Amino acid sequence: MNIHETFVCIVGAGPAGLVTALGLARAGVPFVLLDDGDGPVKESRGLVVHAGALEVLDELGVAAELLERGTRVGTFRVAVRGHALMHIPLGTVPTAFPYFLIVAQAVTESVLRDRLAAQGHAILSGHRVTGVRQDGDGCEVTGKDAQGRPFAVRARCVAGADGLHSTVREQLGIGFPQHTYDTAFLTADVELTGGPDRALAHITPSRHGLLFMAPMPGGGWRLIISVRSPGGRRPQPPALSEVQAHLRRRGLPHATVTTVHKSAGVLLHHGLADDFGRGLVALAGDAAHVHSPAGGMGMNTGIQDACDLAATLAAVHGGADADTMLAGYRRRRMAAAGQVVGFTDRLMRLVSLDTMAVHVVRTAAFALAGLVPAIGRRAALMVSCVTRTPAWTGAPRLPAP
Ligand SMILES: Cc1cc2nc3c(=O)[nH]c(=O)nc-3n(C[C@H](O)[C@H](O)[C@H](O)COP(=O)(O)OP(=O)(O)OC[C@H]3O[C@@H](n4cnc5c(N)ncnc54)[C@H](O)[C@@H]3O)c2cc1C
Repeated sequence: MNIHETFVCIVGAGPAGLVTALGLARAGVPFVLLDDGDGPVKESRGLVVHAGALEVLDELGVAAELLERGTRVGTFRVAVRGHALMHIPLGTVPTAFPYFLIVAQAVTESVLRDRLAAQGHAILSGHRVTGVRQDGDGCEVTGKDAQGRPFAVRARCVAGADGLHSTVREQLGIGFPQHTYDTAFLTADVELTGGPDRALAHITPSRHGLLFMAPMPGGGWRLIISVRSPGGRRPQPPALSEVQAHLRRRGLPHATVTTVHKSAGVLLHHGLADDFGRGLVALAGDAAHVHSPAGGMGMNTGIQDACDLAATLAAVHGGADADTMLAGYRRRRMAAAGQVVGFTDRLMRLVSLDTMAVHVVRTAAFALAGLVPAIGRRAALMVSCVTRTPAWTGAPRLPAP
């Protein structure tokens, strides 16, 4: 059996695990990073990196490269049939990054992986974790590699960043109550002619449901279309004709879809783990919380968990009391994730109710909100995730480079 000894064993090399690793590397804390896959995410997932996550990534020295690979958007525009009702101006957010960055999650993960590799840290790919055990001295993580050979990692602490179906969470016996919405999203990466202004991201509520349009780096658009999914049935990935029909129905008669690069039907859930860890094991990212992509805050919140967790574990490595430090991490991040789950749930209720009467009331509400700039500024602050960064929450900071 292959046996590794280290200070932190990180399970999962998605955005949360990779940022935890980069944070620990910055602090000089030994770690082993295990992942059952073999590279960045393949399907189209997170697209938006908000200011709060960019602040964290900047501390780790990767924001500049990500900014080069993405498109910056400073405003969400809410419009019905071409008439602007409200603007959410990210330029008003107190941050060095007063916009959100549109960049595919696969690119974000590649940038994080390349930075780790450049610092001499390998990811143990193809390593599937099946067991996590704690004893008086620390933890033992066990599983099998891609060739079916058993391995074990002996570590003082474990970071469970192994996503929604987390084995680490399951091994700790931590519950994860979830609710599936009866609204699902169709996502489509498309080329369009006659589309709206590419300097903005567009939110179009209609009585048929919501349409979100974000300009992609390189010229295309990511479309997110809400549809009913009674009983939690996953919708089929939409073909070009269906995407076109949705655009027409939602009031964009001049937009013509010329190509669909990728499309998917996505069921939406929300939920929070009953605790964000136990003893010397902590959870981060989707292993601890899941919410609708409305607002694009899932990966962002996971990146912020990871930065906090890395700084917390670095303090433990430096001699601070592990129980106190990890209890602080769990308290801070459960509160932060609880806010995000609550906010995205309210957004989902807003976009899900699609009767004609509700549409009329909702349109009036957006129009009224558009008359009060403070509401747009408040929404910008909420969605940008900056209020959940160490600077606002009092979380420990990573040492300066
Ligand atoms: C359609 C869609 C759109 C989205 N849009 C956005 C957006 O715009 N902005 C945003 O912030 N978020 C968005 N999200 C959410 C975002 O994709 C997730 O929140 C993010 O990927 C979670 O990162 P993570 O590192 O916690 O988990 P994951 O990305 O799931 O990574 C977990 C890793 O752990 C590995 N793993 C799992 N089990 C084991 C095991 N037993 N042993 C070893 N390794 C294991 C997996 O292979 C994986 O590599 C979207 C999601 C979807 C589905």
